[in-house]
Amino acid sequence: MSSSNNFRPLITDLSRDELKEWCVPRGGGYRADQIRRWIFGKRVHDFESMHDVPAALRTALTSEFDFFATRISRHLVSTDGTEKLLLELRDGETLECVLMREEDRRTVCISTQVGCAMGCVFCASGLLGVKRNLSTGEILDQILRLDRLLPPTERITNVVVMGMGEPLANLKALLPALHTLNAPGGMGLGARRITVSTVGLPEKMRELAATDIPFHLAVSLHAPNDLLRNEIVPVNKNIGIAEILAAADDYFDRTGRRITYEYVLLAGVNDQDAHADELGRLLRRRNAHVNLIPMNSVSTIALEAPGSPRTQHFVEVLKNAGVNATVRKRKGADIDAACGQLRLSALQTPDVVLES
Ligand code: SAH
Repeated sequence: MSSSNNFRPLITDLSRDELKEWCVPRGGGYRADQIRRWIFGKRVHDFESMHDVPAALRTALTSEFDFFATRISRHLVSTDGTEKLLLELRDGETLECVLMREEDRRTVCISTQVGCAMGCVFCASGLLGVKRNLSTGEILDQILRLDRLLPPTERITNVVVMGMGEPLANLKALLPALHTLNAPGGMGLGARRITVSTVGLPEKMRELAATDIPFHLAVSLHAPNDLLRNEIVPVNKNIGIAEILAAADDYFDRTGRRITYEYVLLAGVNDQDAHADELGRLLRRRNAHVNLIPMNSVSTIALEAPGSPRTQHFVEVLKNAGVNATVRKRKGADIDAACGQLRLSALQTPDVVLES
């Protein structure tokens, strides 16, 4: 399903080659890179501001294409410098994206779907199911919006595809977006600075590996055995941990990129020593890093993070088993920065969506 049926084409939905083709009869294909530099590098807000593009071409662009896919519906700034945007798409759907600041790093977290179909029991994004996939341009638009929040001296240094949705369920739109981020004609971000986080869809993990661009892959494991994972991550019933680990091993073999395993710690559910032991046995012979994420509370979900001593102990048990683990720092806790929460609260209290 496309969002743009009744709208003008979105400029960022065009690949570099497609834009070149459009430019050929209008002054030359080389104009495409010039236009893309204005969009991805120079942070303009419309075609008219592209000063070295001839006026006639600017007019043609303005009449044929939309520049942005979204309007900023809410902009929240956390006391720790994290900024979050609730964006409204042209069809009225909403999505979230986040800018995080840490020393020299400027990391953005972007969404790939409106909602999510995976149904992980602790996650706000999945509560209302999936509405639709985002298009390539709608994925890139989040980058454009967040990039324009930075001062001229700063640039986005890292992209994590960990917002709303399952990225590998929308790989068709995501891949061209990642190429644009990665390619010199786009944002010029190295593949190692781009992380794709997946619930674990083996076939799609292999498809991503086959691009031979060594993006960083993070697999959301959350449990060390299928019995428990089936409860926490319902789609696991049709997949199974063994298949996911096999695909992750293949990803490592092909790209040389160490896999990160994400594990949301849920008090009394998956945070006991026995779970850490079992996880250690599963991962110790693999080139793996475990990223423990204390559950961010969601108002309507009766699950919570364990206390800090339990979390630290979990890390120790893993380390003793020979598995490297770190605990993710909380960012933007005061602005509902965990994935899907802002959209959810805005949908529950529709009046806030009208703010601009
Ligand atoms: N669907 C993908 C990417 C989006 S979620 C995936 O499953 O990886 C990105 C990460 O945030 C996942 O590891 C997910 O499990 C985690 N997450 C979702 N809701 C959370 C919450 N309430 N608290 C902590 N982590 C959460």
